Amino acid sequence: MQIIIFGGPGVGKGTQAKIISKNFNIKHISTGDILRESISRGTELGLAAKEIVEGGNLVSDDLMSGLVKETLSNMDYQKGFILDGFPRTIAQAILLDGIFEELGIDNPYFVILNADAEILVERLTSRRLCTKCCTIIKLSDLDESNTCPNCGAKDSCIKREDDKDEVVRKRLKIYEETTFPIIDYYKEKYQLNIINGTDDVDKVAENILKVLS
Ligand code: AMP
Repeated sequence: MQIIIFGGPGVGKGTQAKIISKNFNIKHISTGDILRESISRGTELGLAAKEIVEGGNLVSDDLMSGLVKETLSNMDYQKGFILDGFPRTIAQAILLDGIFEELGIDNPYFVILNADAEILVERLTSRRLCTKCCTIIKLSDLDESNTCPNCGAKDSCIKREDDKDEVVRKRLKIYEETTFPIIDYYKEKYQLNIINGTDDVDKVAENILKVLS
């Protein structure tokens, strides 16, 4: 099963992709996670991407499509995957078409998570990232010891640089202007499976699983 999960920043793509990847035992490919890991390890990619990611801008299409192609080529992609965070521009969507064609991947599921911008701002500015297990945690779920409720690591949850207020607004603007038009581009190609991303996590997951089965 090959899936593209699509939606604005903070809509819950990462959270849902983890649930789906576990449910179907398929690989979760998050371009944001790959970049953040490269940044924290100080790799060549990380050094090139750090300022761009932390400023809420988009890393270049060539770099990102190279990364996705390499990741897919180095795994058993026929077994399945869920792609989260890519494509983010029409150019990336076209490059992804080429990658899929080359690898013989046809007819992936295209799942869109939907939510109003104001809800996304609220979610992004009041969430934390566990630096140990990379899970996104709601601020309201953290106690004073800042212990990750997912993996139990102590004092491990931080605010992402790109979840700061002014950066969040910029990311949303980029989403609306540059990423959202991909839906129009894909509507000729794939069936659009639009899911309400404002329901609670379990309900959203249930609705996605319904579409996939
Ligand atoms: P995410 O975790 O998906 O919100 O991604 C975090 C950040 O990584 C984005 O704001 C971008 O700076 C960068 N990024 C992730 N995926 C892409 C992509 N497909 N194209 C360009 N930049 C990306």
